[in-house]
Amino acid sequence: MTQALKIGILNGDDIGHEIVPASVAIAKAAAEVHGVAIDWKPLPIGAKALETHGHTLPPETMETLRTLDGWILGPIGHRAYPKAPNAINPHPILRKQFNLFANVRPTRSYPDIGCLHDNVDLVIVRENNEGFQPDRNMLVGNAEFRPNDEVTLSMRVITRTGSRNVARAAFELARQRRKHLTYVHKDTVFKLGCGMFVEECKKLAPEYPDVLLDDVIVDTMAMRLVRDPQSFDVVVTTNMFGDILSDLAAGLVGGLGMAPGLCIGDGGVAMAQATHGSAPDIAGKGIANPYAMIESTRMMFEWLGHSRNNPRAVKMAQAMSKATTAALGDANVRTGDIRGKGNTATFTQAILQHLKG
Ligand code: ATP
Ligand code: MG
Repeated sequence: MTQALKIGILNGDDIGHEIVPASVAIAKAAAEVHGVAIDWKPLPIGAKALETHGHTLPPETMETLRTLDGWILGPIGHRAYPKAPNAINPHPILRKQFNLFANVRPTRSYPDIGCLHDNVDLVIVRENNEGFQPDRNMLVGNAEFRPNDEVTLSMRVITRTGSRNVARAAFELARQRRKHLTYVHKDTVFKLGCGMFVEECKKLAPEYPDVLLDDVIVDTMAMRLVRDPQSFDVVVTTNMFGDILSDLAAGLVGGLGMAPGLCIGDGGVAMAQATHGSAPDIAGKGIANPYAMIESTRMMFEWLGHSRNNPRAVKMAQAMSKATTAALGDANVRTGDIRGKGNTATFTQAILQHLKG
């Protein structure tokens, strides 16, 4: 018998308390329909955990995460945390501890929701652990420092291993999709840093003769994403380029509420994490778009279905996708940011109805 999937629920902050429960309700309903056994583990994290456990990433949360197959991480509003040693931003620690080196961020257009283009279906794979936001262990001291009050130095770390890891994740994804991979860089200027990333992308090409490999310079990429996003399938790039380009891509298809993400690596676990932040400006109003979080959750179950050889989980993910797409098509239920008249609850209920119907 297939083992139950062990999945963590980490609400995060602000709208996380609205969109994570919505995603879990939908996943539970889909799992029930398709007979997927899931052992759910709600875990404290973020501002609430600071109140209840005295830490934004309590040790018991970390211990439990090590026993799980994957988890849903709501957005974290760390900029509002008090300045205290136990009020840390959990993101870098989670990504590093579980070696989640690839952040897979799809962009897909849907009719009538305010997309700037039709027929967009691309995925940006962003390196997650280095670049301008390196893990502290890679450096002596901080990534930024001021040798004197007039000058700031910001360091960018590029490693062969990090570049190879993310490039391989992108090649594998391209192989499952339209078999076209574009690596994005600026080796014309950053000859050593981007140069190393480019070398590692090219080195893997002979292992993937079925994948068409090309490259675009990052500034040109910003222009081309705006003008002809349909010409891309899978895009792989370094940390900060990926951060910026994936928000740009989200803007093409209805905004941040439409931008899901999945963090994966070689540790065998997956972390569902929407691209957007905790949106404190709209928190508590019941109007946050849950799509990105729901779709991130769906991606996690699809990934686990394949990596755990659990075909029911793959079916469950397909059902979530179908129900979400159907609900997106109804302006009465979808949220205001994507030209709807509904809210978080109406959108979620509609997806649940489609799942059960
Ligand atoms: P971070 O640094 O954590 O990425 P940010 O400063 O980029 O955060 P967000 O929290 O992502 O900011 O919010 C940016 C804008 O997008 C806000 O106006 C917010 O209300 C809106 N937004 C973000 N997520 C959603 C969502 N799921 N539904 C509707 N609006 C959203
Ligand atoms: Mg942001």
